[in-house]
Amino acid sequence: MTRIAVLGSTNMDLVAYVARAPEPGETVTGREFRTVPGGKGANQAVAAARAGGDVTMIGAVGDDAYGAQLRAGLEHAGLDTDLLHTAEGPSGIAHIVVDDTGANSIVVVPGANGTVTALGPGEMAAIAGADLLLLQLELPLSAVIEGARVAHAQGVRTILAPSPVQPLPAELLDCVDLLIPNEHEAAALTGFTDPRAAARHLLSQVPAVIVTLGAKGCLYAARGGEPVIFPAPEVTAVDTTGAGDTFVGTLAVALGERRPVPESLAWASSAAALCVQRPGASTSMPYRTEIDAA
Ligand code: AMP
Repeated sequence: MTRIAVLGSTNMDLVAYVARAPEPGETVTGREFRTVPGGKGANQAVAAARAGGDVTMIGAVGDDAYGAQLRAGLEHAGLDTDLLHTAEGPSGIAHIVVDDTGANSIVVVPGANGTVTALGPGEMAAIAGADLLLLQLELPLSAVIEGARVAHAQGVRTILAPSPVQPLPAELLDCVDLLIPNEHEAAALTGFTDPRAAARHLLSQVPAVIVTLGAKGCLYAARGGEPVIFPAPEVTAVDTTGAGDTFVGTLAVALGERRPVPESLAWASSAAALCVQRPGASTSMPYRTEIDAA
């Protein structure tokens, strides 16, 4: 089993389903409301566990009711939560609006995630003992950099999903093996709206890049080769929340199993396509048997 350490956020997603998202100053009436466990870190962790990974979640929840629910959900998903701390104060939340086209807009309030500023010996040992480390940018950057450094020093492959997007310091990029931005993040990081140009630019900073392109699939680029597009399966999307996290978590498992990159990308694309056909984020992530069947 691939051992995956996820150093990342755990949030409660408060999801409103609407015909059309409100403009600033406008109020619209929603159709439905759901409370769903989320957070980019936890979502990638759940996706990796469902895809067959042995996953350790490193981070923090709050000491509120959401925190207890989030922890219980991750334990139920089979994750090791010994390094998921309980911090004083509220859990992280994500306020999500999903419209009838399946597009979403999100406000994240970090809460307990913001208390994860440094790593202790337990966290460092878990990262050093993993096959892969998954990072995002919903924890304080100091912890993300420290995690990447520990992994790099121990030869543990590190995948970074640069979301929410922000300028990435060289000390972080120097320790990243695979960067997975979506096309908006790739453009924000490089100034190039063309994903190929963005990927080429990012290859001067990291050895390999995958730009995810929503329904169009993804673009894979590694140093010494030409960027290649891998199309996504054609499906009807009902909610794209969590598609990117499903893609990253599932891909990590396949890469950890030393499967070739094209096969790994096809597998991760199948998993993400299953995710977008169901409502919710972590609840809509597929299990290994479903991905294999697709
Ligand atoms: P995104 O974060 O929107 O770029 O999506 C991440 C990944 O999810 C993409 O690379 C696709 O593999 C998959 N995906 C997203 N939206 C769709 C869609 N409408 N149909 C099929 N796959 C999708």
